[in-house]
Amino acid sequence: MKTRLTYLWTALFCLILAGCSSDEPAFTLSQDNFTDVPPEGQILSFQIETAGEWTATSLNKDWCTVSPGKGTGNATITIDVEGNISQDRTGIVTIYCNGVQTDVSITQKALPEGEELTYRIPVIFHVLYKDQNDPYQYISASRIKQVLDKVNQYYDGKTIAAGGDAGQDINLEFYLPETAPQGNALEAPGVEYVAWDEMPINCESFMQDKNDRIINLLWDLNKYINIMLYNFTAVEGGTILGISHLPLSTRGQNYLEGLHDVEYTHMENSNLGYPHCVSINSLYFDQDTPEGYYNSADANVTLAHELGHYLGLHHAFNEGESDPNADSDYCTDTKPYNRNLYQSTTMMDAYNAYNKSGDMNDLLPGFQRVNSLNAEDIFTSYNLMDYEISYSDRFTLNQRERMRHVLEYSPLIPGPKKTASTRSVAPQGVLDIPIIYKVCYKH
Ligand SMILES: [Zn+2]
Repeated sequence: MKTRLTYLWTALFCLILAGCSSDEPAFTLSQDNFTDVPPEGQILSFQIETAGEWTATSLNKDWCTVSPGKGTGNATITIDVEGNISQDRTGIVTIYCNGVQTDVSITQKALPEGEELTYRIPVIFHVLYKDQNDPYQYISASRIKQVLDKVNQYYDGKTIAAGGDAGQDINLEFYLPETAPQGNALEAPGVEYVAWDEMPINCESFMQDKNDRIINLLWDLNKYINIMLYNFTAVEGGTILGISHLPLSTRGQNYLEGLHDVEYTHMENSNLGYPHCVSINSLYFDQDTPEGYYNSADANVTLAHELGHYLGLHHAFNEGESDPNADSDYCTDTKPYNRNLYQSTTMMDAYNAYNKSGDMNDLLPGFQRVNSLNAEDIFTSYNLMDYEISYSDRFTLNQRERMRHVLEYSPLIPGPKKTASTRSVAPQGVLDIPIIYKVCYKH
């Protein structure tokens, strides 16, 4: 009798825990198995039917993101599967409800050898403002979209002026995300407005700041490129339009020269003690280039240029301090030139002539450079990583290769990685990493 009572009590207790009668399941899923997810990635969805509370957890967070992570009652659950350029793989999302667990499995083949992935990278603009009524601080979402659209044309290689080699298609598209990391819809896609008590801001101090208030502005670096828009403090010696950190590169066989090396293939925001990002001077964000004119502060060029740095490019001109003739950008198809010499001669002469006549033709000699490796080689500047006076509308093949390498291998850069099978564990705590950035004057 005693045994039987215990059994009954145990059974009753189990029923309470499950929260439902024995012939009714705790929950049902419309689908628990996704096979053949395309290598390019896909957003999957399924329905959960239940009266109870549930959680949904991805066991492969580096390529498989589930949202929402929890809920009550019937809902649609989505799984965002990233593109796959490493190897065939299976991921698991566990659904837990009323004491019962079910695994949803996702299998995805890798992109075939020799095929190239089109990268789609979300970009979040953090607009810092002190005065909401100042249009040079509170930059409109429509202007941000307009500039990013133009930047995408540069990265497609489609906007090139006449002459020179064709621009490279980087096979990369930047886009403005509709939702914040927590899953809530953004009022304006890709834009976050942040009230800030200091304006203007010294951009170099900002990029090195160890203060959590600035570091915490950053969204997940593995998912987004963060762009800060604010008024830069004026400096002597020129106008700074933008500033960007350079990416890191993993030590070993996939190291990319010209970048700081780290021993990790995967890192997280918490590993950096500074705000790794692009900053753009919002005082010039309204600048375009009218047809038939030249504008060395064009915001579209500035953003394309800074994103080039963020993806591993150096300036096309000579930056070597010891040797004024060295090719310092690790790209042999961008010809080096001595920028100091150019500024004090060719560029100054062209501006003087143009300022006197107002005739654009007088500016044309300023587009010419002398190859510092070969004085007889006079070339025209078309490169986005050059400064004024330049057509600034394209990248070269070597620059394309560098950016693709960073996309495929660098930690803290969004998008599928070739090392995905080994990248899931990040080191703990803030690492001692030098803060390396490029300051960019009028181009
Ligand atoms: Zn630059």
